[in-house]
Amino acid sequence: MADLVFPAPAPVSIPVAGGGAFPVRRVFCVGRNYAAHAREMGSDPDREPPFFFMKPADALVTDGADTPYPPATADLHHEMELVVGLAEGGVDITEAEALAHVWGYGAGLDLTRRDLQGQAKKEGKPWDMGKGFDHSAPIGLMVPAARIGHPAAGRIVLHVNGKQRQISDLANMIWSVPETIAYLSRLVRLAPGDLIFTGTPEGVAAVGRGDLLEGEVEGVGTIRTRIV
Ligand code: MN
Repeated sequence: MADLVFPAPAPVSIPVAGGGAFPVRRVFCVGRNYAAHAREMGSDPDREPPFFFMKPADALVTDGADTPYPPATADLHHEMELVVGLAEGGVDITEAEALAHVWGYGAGLDLTRRDLQGQAKKEGKPWDMGKGFDHSAPIGLMVPAARIGHPAAGRIVLHVNGKQRQISDLANMIWSVPETIAYLSRLVRLAPGDLIFTGTPEGVAAVGRGDLLEGEVEGVGTIRTRIV
C-alpha cells in the first residue's frame, strides 16, 4: 500500500460494560419509529416503510464526556434511543436471522439541530447538517447480547436536569430491531461494527448549555452527558 500522505484518523470505538471496546464502522439512524413521536413531528405514523439517515462515526461522544453545544442552531433537541451494534454483516438478512447478527446494545442520544432539519424538510433538502454534526451522538457503554439477550420491550426514559422529558417502551417501536436490520440490509451491505439508532419516542425538546441529560433503556444501560 502507498504511504499515507498524512496520519489516518484514530479508529472510533465505544467502551464495553465489563471491559473491552466495540469498534465502530458506520452509524445508521431510523427516522420516526415511534407513532407518538411521528405525530408530534407532524407525520402520519401509519407504518410507512422505515427510512434511514446517517451520522459520521466520529460524531459519537463516549465515556460520559461533555457534549459541546453545536454551532449554527438555536434549537438543539434530545432524542433518546436504543442503539444496536452489529457483530456480523451481510445483505438480504431475513428477520428470522437478524438478531444473530447483533453483538449488543447501548443507550444513545440522536442530538438534532431541529431548526436546520425543519428548514431542510421544508425545502426538500438533505437532513445531514441537522443530524450528522460533530458530537451529535452521545452513547453509553455497549452491553453484549450474550449477557442481556435481545430486548424487545422495556422502559426507555430520558431526564433533563432530573426532570423526566421522554418515557415510552421499546415495545412501542413501529419497526422492531429484526425488521429494521432486515430492511436496512436490503439497502446496503451491513458490516461488523455498524450501529443502528432505532428511533426516539415522544417528548423531544430543546436543551441548552449546562443541561444534564440522563437516559436509561431498561435492561440495557444508561447514557449521561452534559451540554457545555
Ligand atoms: Mn432519532
